[in-house]
Amino acid sequence: MSNQPDRIIIFDTTLRDGEQSPGASLTVEEKLTIARSLARLGVDIIEAGFPYASPGDFKAVQKIAQTVGTENGPTICGLARATKNDIKTAAEALKPAFKSRIHTFIATSDIHLKHKLKKTREEVLAIAPEMVAYAKTFTDDVEFSPEDAGRSDPEFMYQVLEAAIAAGATTINIPDTVGYTTPSEFGALIKGIKDNVPNIDQAIISVHGHDDLGLAVANFLEAVKNGARQLECTINGIGERAGNAALEELVMALHVRRQYFNPFLGRSVDATEPLTNINTQEIYKTSRLVSNLTGMIVQPNKAIVGANAFAHESGIHQDGVLKNKLTYEIMDAESIGLTNNQIVLGKLSGRNAFRTRLNELGFELSETELNNAFLRFKEVADKKKEITDWDLEAIVNDEIQQAPELFRLELVQVSCGDHSAPTATVTLRNPEGKELTDAAIGTGPVDAVYKAINRVVNVPNELIEFSVKSVTAGIDAMGEVTIRLRYEGRIYSGYAANTDIITASARAYISALNRLYGSIQEESKENSSQGVLTPQG
Ligand SMILES: [Zn+2]
Repeated sequence: MSNQPDRIIIFDTTLRDGEQSPGASLTVEEKLTIARSLARLGVDIIEAGFPYASPGDFKAVQKIAQTVGTENGPTICGLARATKNDIKTAAEALKPAFKSRIHTFIATSDIHLKHKLKKTREEVLAIAPEMVAYAKTFTDDVEFSPEDAGRSDPEFMYQVLEAAIAAGATTINIPDTVGYTTPSEFGALIKGIKDNVPNIDQAIISVHGHDDLGLAVANFLEAVKNGARQLECTINGIGERAGNAALEELVMALHVRRQYFNPFLGRSVDATEPLTNINTQEIYKTSRLVSNLTGMIVQPNKAIVGANAFAHESGIHQDGVLKNKLTYEIMDAESIGLTNNQIVLGKLSGRNAFRTRLNELGFELSETELNNAFLRFKEVADKKKEITDWDLEAIVNDEIQQAPELFRLELVQVSCGDHSAPTATVTLRNPEGKELTDAAIGTGPVDAVYKAINRVVNVPNELIEFSVKSVTAGIDAMGEVTIRLRYEGRIYSGYAANTDIITASARAYISALNRLYGSIQEESKENSSQGVLTPQG
């Protein structure tokens, strides 16, 4: 019996592994926004979180299962260690989903067995099928991962995989947890599994890997050639340490080099059927959304979604591209949804036009969010005549990104220049509704604003990243500010967009501080929870 798919299955783990990257922590609402965007992108499976890890994770998975895991939506997956409590909690969170998957894992390398699990090989060989069978009592769709597969004794791993499949695992996922293998080694690992696990045709082979040596995508493509049919990846490649394999790179490599990959899926070279279910035109938008919400900025030279990926600076290239795009472009910017960024709205545009365009862009806002975003839009349109789709996205992201408003910026004013010390005055409304004003001098206007805000808010924190970038070209362009700050080892991000970069900087900072405050409050509420868990990498 064989159940091999005729396409490559895209398993997105932006909300689970991606969210584990330092500073990428997201609120439940933000996770939901990303999940909706992933559904529009057409991913087959969303790994929405690790429900047992914290009540917040549980709630996020449950909400995504409820609202995105509909009949025509993607499968919603939850991660669980190979214990009954983890699996039961994951199943509980996934209950509202039309299609749900439990992903359970246990390490198979001797080094993990000895130092982390303190279990023998015999014990692991018994636990894996037992827990797969237990997960199977909640859903037919069970994925099993032997953690640290790359460093496991292959013979032992084959036995564990065979037992997991016999117990009902429908997908077996091979992780390169530490990002150490090279493409030919990783391909050989997958081939070894195909050749040595007797019941392997009853399961789909999946791969998971990290980009510590910049090889994750290359490793995955080699795995596809050797029989892998599911790729676990994240938007913009975010994730622990150097991140995961980037979804957009994998999908576009399979798309652009279709003819090369077709034969490995048993198709004729010239078959035109897409190799994935991804709607590639949603790639750029999803990338921007994830970058804005996580505060993880995409480097300009990043493949596919970087700002320069489709820019041609050299004269020779420009000339060639003007004569025929294919001279220097292997793919069309439109294929990832990077359109001409036309002017769409202006100062006189009404609420309906605004709402309609947002719907076309795929945003679903609540009535309150829409009202707030429309007010912001009017403010921006007053200062900037032409509003483009990118401006609209920045406005909406600014609106949905704001953490619960504990502190609120009422006023910011700076005075600076080459003959005066930059001075800032700020007025904030604190969580009790009281207005507080203070002033400070800094090395520059933004520094002065942050010092003044710190005098009011009074939580020690360390600013570790500050970045300003313009949304569109032109002197009246909106500026987007992304900041990250650290408090007690955890990182909090803030984002804001405004035509005035000082205002954007202040708003971004307050947004990060509100997140920090919110998490301190939540933590005191959740002190009785299970503590911090570190799942498979
Ligand atoms: Zn990982």
